[in-house]
Amino acid sequence: MSALADVMDTQYNGHVKTCSVCALVKPRTEFYRRVASPDGLAPLCRECSRAKSRAYQVAHRDEARVRHAAWRVANEEHNRLEHQRWYKANKYRLSEEYKQKYATDPEYSKIKAHEWSMANPERRAAIRRKWRETHSASAIAAVRRRQERLAGVPVADFTDEEWPAVLREFNH
Ligand SMILES: [Zn+2]
Repeated sequence: MSALADVMDTQYNGHVKTCSVCALVKPRTEFYRRVASPDGLAPLCRECSRAKSRAYQVAHRDEARVRHAAWRVANEEHNRLEHQRWYKANKYRLSEEYKQKYATDPEYSKIKAHEWSMANPERRAAIRRKWRETHSASAIAAVRRRQERLAGVPVADFTDEEWPAVLREFNH
């Protein structure tokens, strides 16, 4: 035992131990219990134990992340088909759920669809284009008149006439 350990040992009445990692002499209460050890304590102090397990967790987390990414790449086609299969099997149920939700809370559905349309500008433009292509000039003019009438009122990007198409798309 070192001179310091001797001093500490006296001070703590024989209850000290030297950490195998930081080499500091610490009270025995600063070590976790370990039944397998001759003195019944872990060789490293609590502080070093915690640091070690934190480092292990970080390394393990990165490892898991890398493993998962590799799995995803290796199973890309399989996962895509699985997703497709699941979607086909659940499409009807999803659309029923959505219809029900829309029936009970049209505002919520409209907000969600609006969020979707904002997040998908290309799809949004495509829907608008399609809607304009499939409607008569007079229908488009009527919508424009209505929009002009509502001018000044903050309205969504879509007209009420266009919403069904957006909602259908959003429901995909
Ligand atoms: Zn230590």
